[in-house]
Amino acid sequence: MNNLENKTRTIIKKFNIKANKRLGQNFLIDQNVLDTITEEGEVCKDDLVIEIGPGLGVLTAELCKKAGRVVAIELDRRFIDILEDVLSEYNNYKIIQGDILNIDLKGLVKEFNHQGDIKVIANLPYYITTPVIFKLLEEELGIKSIVIMVQKEVAQRITASPGGKEYGALTIAVAYYGDANIVLHVPSCSFIPKPEVDSSVIKIEIHNNPVIDVVDKKLFFKVVRASFTQRRKTILNSIANSGLFGENKSDIKSILDSVGIKENQRPEELSIHDFARLVNKLNK
Ligand code: SAH
Repeated sequence: MNNLENKTRTIIKKFNIKANKRLGQNFLIDQNVLDTITEEGEVCKDDLVIEIGPGLGVLTAELCKKAGRVVAIELDRRFIDILEDVLSEYNNYKIIQGDILNIDLKGLVKEFNHQGDIKVIANLPYYITTPVIFKLLEEELGIKSIVIMVQKEVAQRITASPGGKEYGALTIAVAYYGDANIVLHVPSCSFIPKPEVDSSVIKIEIHNNPVIDVVDKKLFFKVVRASFTQRRKTILNSIANSGLFGENKSDIKSILDSVGIKENQRPEELSIHDFARLVNKLNK
C-alpha cells in the first residue's frame, strides 16, 4: 500500500466513513496523479484556488501547500470536521459546506478580492461534471485555468477535433471559452472505492478574449445544440428542421454557400469558426 492509500484508509477508519456513491465519492489514492494535477495547475503562492468536492482533503492539503489561498466547497456535511482535522497545519483555506451548483461563485470571488490568478482544481463528482463546467465558464469569474478530473469519455468529448463521433456541442461550448487538453489518463485503481469508469485529467486554459466573434451568443449556442441533436442529418437539413430560421431550404443553402459550407456536410465536420460564420450570417 502506498502512503496516500494508507493515509486515506486511516482517515476512513478513524472517522468510520462509508463512501456515498450517489455523491460521486471516489477518493484519490495515487500520489503521482495528485502531483500531476497541481503541476498542471501551475499552482503558486499568488493563486487563489477553488476546489470542488475536497472529500477527505488529500488534494486540498497539496493545494494549501502550494497556493496562496484555497476555497473548497463540499456538499457532504460529514467531511467538514474531517477536513478541519486533516488540514489543521494550514491556515490559508476556507471550507464552505454546500452544493457547488447553488453557490454564488461570483459573490465568493468578489469577497476574496484576490489580486493574483484564480484557478479551479478538482477531482469532480462525475454526476454533475457538465453543469459544473458550464457554471465555471458561463459565469465569467475571471478564472485563468481549470484542471479537473472527469470521466474519460467526457474528457474525450471536450477535447475532440471536428470529424469524430466525440465532437459535439460540449466540445464547441468549451472551445468558446478556452483551450482544453487531456493531461493524464487515470485508471480506476487510482481511487477508493474504484469507480466503474476510467478517468482523465483535463486542463482548460481560459481565453482572455473569445476565439470567435458572434453577434448573438445565445443564438450561436442554440444553433450548435440544435445541429448536434440531429447529427446524422446534413447541416442544411439540421438548420431547416431546427425551426430557428424558417424552413426555406434554398435560402439556407445560399447562406451556407456564402460562408463556404457545403450543404451536405454533417454538423460534426464543422469547426467552431464555421458555426460562428454561419450563425452570424443566418442572423442578418
Ligand atoms: N477530492 C477528493 C474527493 C473526490 S470525490 C479526492 O480526490 O479524493 C467527489 C467529492 O465531491 C466528494 O467529496 C463529494 O462529497 C463531493 N460532492 C458531491 N457532490 C457535490 C456538490 N454538488 N457540491 C460540492 N461537492 C460535492
